[in-house]
Amino acid sequence: MARHAKEKFDAIVVGAGPSGNAAAYTMAQAGLKVLQIERGEYPGSKNVQGAILYADALERIIPDFRDDAPLERHVIEQRVWVLDDASFVGTHFRSDDYNKPPYNRYTIIRAQFDKWFSSKVREAGALLICETTVEELLLDGERVVGVRCDRIGGEVYADVVVVADGVNSTLARKAGLHGEIQASNVALAVKEILFMPEEVIQQRFNVKDEEGVVIEMMGSVTEGMVGTGFLYTNRDS
Ligand SMILES: Cc1cc2nc3c(=O)[nH]c(=O)nc-3n(C[C@H](O)[C@H](O)[C@H](O)COP(=O)(O)OP(=O)(O)OC[C@H]3O[C@@H](n4cnc5c(N)ncnc54)[C@H](O)[C@@H]3O)c2cc1C
Repeated sequence: MARHAKEKFDAIVVGAGPSGNAAAYTMAQAGLKVLQIERGEYPGSKNVQGAILYADALERIIPDFRDDAPLERHVIEQRVWVLDDASFVGTHFRSDDYNKPPYNRYTIIRAQFDKWFSSKVREAGALLICETTVEELLLDGERVVGVRCDRIGGEVYADVVVVADGVNSTLARKAGLHGEIQASNVALAVKEILFMPEEVIQQRFNVKDEEGVVIEMMGSVTEGMVGTGFLYTNRDS
């Protein structure tokens, strides 16, 4: 970080999740000098979601993403189940329209996907620094002029700082941009990955090749708590 201490960038992006990567990629593609700072060991190292990638947003910035992005299965069917302990009622929506390329949504694994997205950001010319946490925004009056990182000499300046450190943004809270998050407004999600052979997944979910199914569940699955359960089919999990 010392090397960049006196360097000024056009933009600093905090975080290398989907938002940070999209912002850094777009600005670097436009020729701006971009520094991206990620606290994880590598982009995606700690990032977890369902996960379904809705293609249209990514397609707008990387039109040929299907050529090399780590995509699992394209989703052709969405099921919703309402369960009690012994039974369920459900709807299944499957469409041949979803089974025609270019597919409109895919299951992904964030650890792989974020790494891939970040490689595009670096190809576009942005400088990425990992294992570095931004601790606060530097202000000149009311204007954000840079960031302070958890490294000696870790002050870096830029015309624009994009705070993309996730929904639970400590930076936005510290800077007074949003208030404290109330425990009653937060849910805990747990993801379990069960590996099984591709043929077993295809038989169980009535799909072939790289077709995939998503199931959303409500009722006894959450054991009385507010929320839902999701089941996503990856290639072999
Ligand atoms: C259970 C669950 C299931 C979901 N399923 C889906 C789904 O199927 N499809 C979908 O589209 N969305 C889904 N989402 C929503 C999706 O996960 C978020 O919209 C998305 O992750 C937001 O991206 P982001 O880049 O804003 O933040 P994040 O993905 O949270 O990335 C923030 C990044 O910033 C880094 N960071 C944080 N603080 C600092 C700091 N101070 N300094 C440096 N780096 C920092 C983090 O390490 C992280 O890499 C789901 C969310 C949950 C919780």
